Amino acid sequence: MSLLSRRHLMMAATGLVAAAAAPRLAFAQAAAAAPSGPFTLPPLPYAAAALEPHIDAKTMEIHHGKHHQAYVTNMNNFAKDHPKLAEMPVQDVLGKLGDVPEAIRTGVRNNLGGHANHTMFWQIMGPNGGKPSGEVLAAIDRDLGGMEKFQTDFNAAGGKQFGSGWVFVTVSKDGKLAIEARPNQDTPLMDGKRVLMGNDVWEHAYYLNYQNRRADYLKAWWNTVNWSKVAERYEAAKAGTLGV
Ligand code: MN
Repeated sequence: MSLLSRRHLMMAATGLVAAAAAPRLAFAQAAAAAPSGPFTLPPLPYAAAALEPHIDAKTMEIHHGKHHQAYVTNMNNFAKDHPKLAEMPVQDVLGKLGDVPEAIRTGVRNNLGGHANHTMFWQIMGPNGGKPSGEVLAAIDRDLGGMEKFQTDFNAAGGKQFGSGWVFVTVSKDGKLAIEARPNQDTPLMDGKRVLMGNDVWEHAYYLNYQNRRADYLKAWWNTVNWSKVAERYEAAKAGTLGV
């Protein structure tokens, strides 16, 4: 491929063909508009289409690139006046929201909670997720009544969450599991707990494909769980190294 056509392709990919007369300027402006930390959007660990047909690419693109990005951008705006927010681990800030200045406390709860929840969410999904095994399966059998009861109870808790929220599995330091739902972007991290896995039941997580059928989304979502990542998080929780 010639250098010119290659360059043209790259511009087409970024939607900048119309600005071909001044591509450098357009790129510079795009770079200047990008948020620059200290909080950053973690890249999706797979392609946006990788979870189809269970979660469609468009939903993933908007969910990750717009919704999660907005939580990150809002945190960066808070951090301009409150740099300490970015100096502590996310789970520690959320575990001590009472220490956050009152004027920004609700904003930090919503946006840092959203950042933590979605960072976990992208991680524990993936194509070819397999099935739980080993210690995680043993813990599911012991604490959640086996895989079938676990999925039924988890989906029921997610279905019952009125309005927006999340359904989580929390994990204690001795490896004990529990299903816990939370409203909005609240997280068990706020109670000093650790999250093994969780599902987003905000409408933005499923509405394009499932509309009002949250139950169908909850059921299909199990096909996207990356059980080897869940197993890693279980080990980390027991070692006391699991963050968000
Ligand atoms: Mn979400």
